Amino acid sequence: MRLNVAIVGRPNVGKSTLFNRLVGKKLALVDDRPGVTRDRRESEARLGDMTINIIDTAGLEVAGEDALETRMRLQTEEAVAMSDVILFMIDARAGITPMDEYFANVARKSGKPTILLANKSEGRKADAGFYDSYSLGLGDPVTLSAEHGIGMSELYEQLVKYE
Ligand code: GDP
Ligand code: MG
Repeated sequence: MRLNVAIVGRPNVGKSTLFNRLVGKKLALVDDRPGVTRDRRESEARLGDMTINIIDTAGLEVAGEDALETRMRLQTEEAVAMSDVILFMIDARAGITPMDEYFANVARKSGKPTILLANKSEGRKADAGFYDSYSLGLGDPVTLSAEHGIGMSELYEQLVKYE
């Protein structure tokens, strides 16, 4: 059985960037066609010698902040329910916000193994957010830059334990 892995976190932390990196640009482009509303994207992805099923949570093409938030919440719960392992992502440059705490709580309540990803960690601006993220109670953060491909081998090390 292939491991189901959901990327969870508030909007704009870099979830889709990681999804695209793991899946490969070609597949992601198909899902990114303008006008195609697809809240939850799911695909086979490779990480080292692992083949996983990766689930992104989006909720972008919705009018209005309230609608976006409601949809994010429902989608996150759905993605969490179908996953074996959760990748919980924060923007280490932005620090921890109440919305991060909300989504972290969804992950924690599920009781599923959760790997904390401190994204946007290229450069020093991320240091404070990295240390703040311990307050989420999700263990040691993995220093990641989805955009620059930093931390992918540590992500692999953390994930392969659950294969
Ligand atoms: P999502 O809403 O969580 O899916 O976030 P996106 O993947 O759409 O990314 C939100 C913004 O953060 C985009 O402008 C990305 O280019 C940017 N971003 C994603 N990963 C990184 C990263 O590792 N470093 C930096 N500096 N920016 C990033
Ligand atoms: Mg996204």
